[in-house]
Amino acid sequence: MESLKMYINGNWEDSHDKETINVNNPSTGEVMTTIPRGTKDDVDRAVKVAKDTFGSAEWRRVKPFERGRILFDVAAQIKEDRDELARLESMDVGKPLTQGYADIDAAIRYFEFYGGAADKVMGDTIPIEDGLIDYVIREPIGVTAHIVPWNYPIQILSRSVAAAIAMGNTVVVKSAEDTPLTAVKIAEFFDRTSLPKGVFNHVTGYGYEAGAALSSHPLINHLTFTGSVGTGTAVAHAATSNVVPVTLELGGKSPNIVFSDCDIDKAVEGVVKAIIQNAGQTCSAGSRLVIEESFKETFLEKLIDRFKSLSVGPALDDYDLGPILNQKQFDRIMEFISSAEQEGTVVSGGKRVKYDQYENACYLEPTVIDNLSPDSEAAQEEIFGPVLSVFTFKDEDEAIEIANSTDYGLVTGIWTRDINKAHLLMSRIDSGQVFINNYGAGGGIQMPFGGYKKSGFGREKGWIALYNYTQVKNVAIKF
Ligand code: NAD
Repeated sequence: MESLKMYINGNWEDSHDKETINVNNPSTGEVMTTIPRGTKDDVDRAVKVAKDTFGSAEWRRVKPFERGRILFDVAAQIKEDRDELARLESMDVGKPLTQGYADIDAAIRYFEFYGGAADKVMGDTIPIEDGLIDYVIREPIGVTAHIVPWNYPIQILSRSVAAAIAMGNTVVVKSAEDTPLTAVKIAEFFDRTSLPKGVFNHVTGYGYEAGAALSSHPLINHLTFTGSVGTGTAVAHAATSNVVPVTLELGGKSPNIVFSDCDIDKAVEGVVKAIIQNAGQTCSAGSRLVIEESFKETFLEKLIDRFKSLSVGPALDDYDLGPILNQKQFDRIMEFISSAEQEGTVVSGGKRVKYDQYENACYLEPTVIDNLSPDSEAAQEEIFGPVLSVFTFKDEDEAIEIANSTDYGLVTGIWTRDINKAHLLMSRIDSGQVFINNYGAGGGIQMPFGGYKKSGFGREKGWIALYNYTQVKNVAIKF
């Protein structure tokens, strides 16, 4: 694969000091290509271009419905190249090809959804008094910065970039250094549209260099960050010290609460999918099973049978699970598994899967751990791998107590045929999304998505996310 370039002001660029970063294929452990190691200077150039373009007459002349058409144009190009993009995403992240396709389809929908919304965000009038007309309009904010994680690159880029451009902002994206391939394609697609140069810019590079330079840049007007809690806290400090608003989409330790009156086959399938999607490297992974004690044996028997039937292998061959991103992530997961082995019992999986032809790739059996204390490290921390921990409850109060017992609050699943009970429980759950008798891992593109507690603040996806990229102006006219 050819070396890739950054996209700044409509130009394809190397980094200021010409250094590059290797991009690996997690399924084989081999280098696929390189990206520029973007520097502070590169970020500065991209932000200044985005600032100038935001104020330019050329961008202001583009009407809202025309911005929408540009986004539709990108959606159409993604559709056209769907097969190639699905393969790229699958190779880059190591996700099974079917999941690569699902991500491309979601990206298409983001561009279509926000393209359609571009001329539909309207203001209000407020009745104050006779002779005074008061109205509220929403204006774009300016330069929006988007820092994207490695696990769902095209989806996460598309959801915030499409919303930001729909609302008339300019954009600087910093893609993840491990998985930049589809972000470069999105830049190519924008390049073929009538979008004025300088509206969409893409810089590549390490988080501690390019990412840090972007989040602390005094000329950005909004920062959307998706990634880990540690980095999210750092970028929020940097941005808010310049009084720049942030939207943070961070990690999770999401529970599936399973009652004995559930449909067992559906619940088993839901719990399995929730933890194996993208080999558990998903913010909304259902990594904790919280099960009614009297039902545990019956449920676990089926669950473990299902776990043992799962296949693990190279992403493009579309096994149930692909590889772990890299050795570093793999070692981190294995540390959690060995500490859990001291404190609890590994009842399924837990071992490396060897592929002789790919000795540098890291494959792991999907793993179930039982008998952990709910406050142990493996029960509290985001493992970011295909590792499910099991906890039991005797009654609803205990179920809620365990489900809410981590610092996170992204997603919760509830499995019961008693919809009354499910609704009452839902209102006691501390998470931004609750799935009842299904588990959507982040949910459809129209559903507001975001966390309670340390899973973040602000919401992405759906109509609500458009407001991240506007600021409110109130106008009062006296007659
Ligand atoms: P990460 O925090 O390491 O990196 C995310 C992005 O931030 C990358 O582009 C990285 O280069 C950049 N970055 C790293 N250090 C930086 C710094 N000092 N300043 C500025 N930018 C910096 O996260 P990751 O490993 O890429 O992704 C995994 C994490 O993301 C998990 O915790 C996962 O739960 C979370 N995540 C959340 C969502 C969500 O929508 N809630 C979605 C996907 C992933």
